[in-house]
Amino acid sequence: MQLLDGKYVSEKLKQEIANEAAEVLANSGRKPHLVAILVGNDGGSETYVASKMKNCEKVGFRSSLVRYDETVSEEELLAKVEEINQDPEVDGLIVQLPLPKHIDPEKVTEKIDHRKDVDGFHPINLGRMMRNLPCFIPATPYGILLMLEEYKIDTAGKHCVVIGRSNIVGSPMSILMARNSNPGNCTVTLTHSRTKNLEEIVRSADIVVAAIGKKNFVTADMVKEGAVVIDVGINREISTTTKSGFKLFGDVDFENVAPKASWITPVPGGVGLMTIIGLLRNTLASAKKEIYK
Ligand code: NDP
Repeated sequence: MQLLDGKYVSEKLKQEIANEAAEVLANSGRKPHLVAILVGNDGGSETYVASKMKNCEKVGFRSSLVRYDETVSEEELLAKVEEINQDPEVDGLIVQLPLPKHIDPEKVTEKIDHRKDVDGFHPINLGRMMRNLPCFIPATPYGILLMLEEYKIDTAGKHCVVIGRSNIVGSPMSILMARNSNPGNCTVTLTHSRTKNLEEIVRSADIVVAAIGKKNFVTADMVKEGAVVIDVGINREISTTTKSGFKLFGDVDFENVAPKASWITPVPGGVGLMTIIGLLRNTLASAKKEIYK
C-alpha cells in the first residue's frame, strides 16, 4: 500500500501557487482576492472557512470574510453577493454551505457571477465541465484530480465507483472521471442510498471514491485487492484525547482497507487538504483570467 499524501502534495502545489501569485502581484499590482461569506456559527463551517482564509494568506492572496448572523434574510445575502459580483477587486466568491433553512442555496449559487464562482457550483460551470470546456471545477473533485495527477495514477479504462451523488462531490466526480481527459477515461458507476448490491459493485472497482458522510462505511470486504481508494469523508467525533476536542474519521475503514489497497488517502491528511488547493487554483485562474476573459 502507498499513501496518497495530501500533506505532501498540497504543500508542493501551494508553493507553485505562491510563485504564480507573486507574478500576478508584480504584473498587475494586486493580489488574487478571495471573498468568503459565512452565515451563522456552525462549528465545521467556521473551521473550513478559517482554513481557507489562512491558506489564502499563506500563498500571497488577499482574503476577506463577510460574516452574517444566521437570522440574515435571503434578500440581504443576495444583495451582498451582487455587490461582490460587481467589485472589480474581487476574483473569487464563495458562500460557505450549509445555509440556514430559510435561505435557498440554489438561489445563492445562481446569483454568484459564474466568472467568480471559484467553488464551481454554478450551473454554467457545471455545464461547461460536462462539455469538457474550461471552467471552475468544484474544489473537492478538482483536488482529487490533482492528487491522482501528481502520483501518476493510471485511470484510463479503469472501473471507478463513486459512492455518493451530492452536487459538490459525488456527481461532479463521476462526470470528471468519465471525461475524455487525464485523469479520466474511466468507466464510472455512480452509487447512492438507493443502489442495490452496493457491496458487490464496490468490490468490482479499480478506483473507489467514497463521499457518503458515514464513518467506516467502506469496509475491507468491499474492496478489491489492489484498488485505489479515495476517502472524501470528514466525520467529526468528540474526543478527549485531542487538543481541538474532536477527532476526524473518513468514510473508509482505513486500518483494514489500507493493506488491500494499492493507493489510499488518509483522513485527515488527504482529500481535505487537496480541496483547499482546488479552491486556490480556481482563484488564481480567475485572477489571471485563464478561464473567463
Ligand atoms: P451529502 O450528505 O450531500 O451526500 C451523501 C451521499 O451519500 C448522498 O448521495 C447519499 O445518497 C449517499 N449515501 C448516504 N447513505 C448511503 C448508503 N447507505 N449507501 C450509499 N450511499 C449513501 O454529502 P457530501 O457529498 O457533501 O459529503 C460527503 C462526505 O464528504 C461528508 O463526510 C463530508 O463532510 C465530506 N466532505 C469532505 C470534503 C473534503 O474536502 N474532504 C468536502 C466536502 C464534503 P442519496 O443521494 O440517495 O441520499
